Amino acid sequence: MNSKPLTPGLSMSPQLSETDVAAAARAGVRSIIANRPDGEEPGQPSAATLAAVAANHGIAFEHIPVTLNAISTADVERMADALRRLPEPMLAYCRTGTRSAALWALTRSGKEDPEALLVAASAAGYDLNAVRARLAPVIPSGGADAVVRVYDVVIIGGGAAGVASAASLLKRRPALDIAIVEPAETHDYQPGWTMVGAGVFAPGATRRPMASVMPDRCHWIRQAAAGLAPETAEVVLADGSSLRYRVLIVAPGLKLDWEAIPGLSDALGRNGVTSNYRFDLAPYTHELVSRLKHGRALFTQPAMPIKCAGAPQKAMYLSCDLWRRAGVLGDIEVEFHNAGAVLFGVSTYVPALMEYVERYGIALRPQSRLIAVDGAARVATFETNAADGDVSRTKREFDLLHAVPPQVAPAFVAQSSLASANGFVDVDPATLRNPSFGNVFSLGDACSAPNAKTAAAVRKQAPIVALNVLATLDSRPLPATYDGYGSCPLTVELGKIVLAEFGYGGALLPSFPKWLLDGTRPSRLAWLLKERVLPPLYWHAMLRGREWLVAPASAK
Ligand code: FAD
Repeated sequence: MNSKPLTPGLSMSPQLSETDVAAAARAGVRSIIANRPDGEEPGQPSAATLAAVAANHGIAFEHIPVTLNAISTADVERMADALRRLPEPMLAYCRTGTRSAALWALTRSGKEDPEALLVAASAAGYDLNAVRARLAPVIPSGGADAVVRVYDVVIIGGGAAGVASAASLLKRRPALDIAIVEPAETHDYQPGWTMVGAGVFAPGATRRPMASVMPDRCHWIRQAAAGLAPETAEVVLADGSSLRYRVLIVAPGLKLDWEAIPGLSDALGRNGVTSNYRFDLAPYTHELVSRLKHGRALFTQPAMPIKCAGAPQKAMYLSCDLWRRAGVLGDIEVEFHNAGAVLFGVSTYVPALMEYVERYGIALRPQSRLIAVDGAARVATFETNAADGDVSRTKREFDLLHAVPPQVAPAFVAQSSLASANGFVDVDPATLRNPSFGNVFSLGDACSAPNAKTAAAVRKQAPIVALNVLATLDSRPLPATYDGYGSCPLTVELGKIVLAEFGYGGALLPSFPKWLLDGTRPSRLAWLLKERVLPPLYWHAMLRGREWLVAPASAK
């Protein structure tokens, strides 16, 4: 055995044989980590074979196979977890030991000085220059003398917009130095929550570990942005430290303001009160709908802008269809309390929706805003604006309440000099660039552009922002413009969707010819898209920089 110590508790080794494992046991090794994929060369003992020998000697064994140029964030996470968990002394091996040393160094990224890591590896005989670019320096927090790291691009938010724009940037310029500021450990496919509420998708299909969607070559800063200082090109983090950027992309989504409706937060998840706007509550929607046999069901929609403007009524149509199929719809009084005046902002789609409103016997209550919930008494209070300007309050008892909260810009955005009048990041609707700070862009729910706030919009915006960011870094004119495309698949019944696709000013922007899919009529093909095509398109294309159907004309 030819192992070399890297730290007091960890050594690296070239490929081990069965005899080497026995020798390691005699030398006191308590854990072995195999970083070599099986079958790389003839005669190579498999990880399973060595694991069996290790088990005979009471040695813990873990297989985390990697190739040097494709070490993912998830691989690093697994290695870090193994190093934390397994008993020392540990022995890690691959073909030569270099991959194991590289993985170890990557687990120390941001915690130890990159040069010190390279020197330690070199002293043990390993050249880690292949991963040098991925080793982030230690960022000291606070203090006047703090060293502030400057990235080519800082992205705030690792949601749909943040990850898609990072992927689109890296696809065009792989060496770009990008940091994504994101505190959450999980990433949600929110468009799936409507389907969870109807019992079509399992909740787990809509959530993945954040580490699995973070582009490998990005530095993931695992905390929240707390302040923006565009004047000095700085982002202040929750721990008081800061990052500097050449270009900033602001994509932290929006804030669901549950607290704006007294009583709502406390009532959610019990008392028949639910919302598809939360991962943990969407299954409760399905549970309540399945249980309800008679009574009154209220569905609410707050003032615009909200994410996926159709989602409040999608929940209602699917619930009605489930009640219709169960033969109980006639015994359930359904009301749609809409803070706005119209059923849907683009009038072309309203006739098809009205057919379903009539079919399900839904009572429409326009300009009726949810202002309070008494969960224990099962009473909701609404404020209604009459045409003559009179404001009145009504209390409605309910058996089921599907509530959608008001939606506002995150406070740190609204309080910054990047904010527009309504608090969202001010952008030019075409280029998505901030009019005051030429090196700041925004997309997704956080930006002020008057498009429908949807993941579909993000899919179109991400490549446009990527092209414009690269042009800004190169001091070139911005090449790409956004037409406001957004899409809202209105699930009018189980198996059929009215597929609204439109841009700025309500201009219809269908993706398919009318003979194939007429978006203004309920369609089975549109349901298949939503159920079968869009989720993999999201996880495997949009978040990976594959710009199917949305590549900008000037893409390069
Ligand atoms: P998000 O995806 O919400 O991501 C924001 C990210 O920023 C999060 O990861 C968050 O943790 C992070 N963040 C927040 N604050 C900070 C901070 N201070 N610092 C750093 N990071 C921060 N879209 C469709 O296209 N079709 C649909 O059918 C559809 N249906 C929907 C149904 C429902 C019930 C919901 C809730 C949404 C639906 N959407 C739909 C909308 C779509 O999910 C959003 O428009 C999309 O997720 C917006 O992406 P985003 O990245 O801007 O925001």
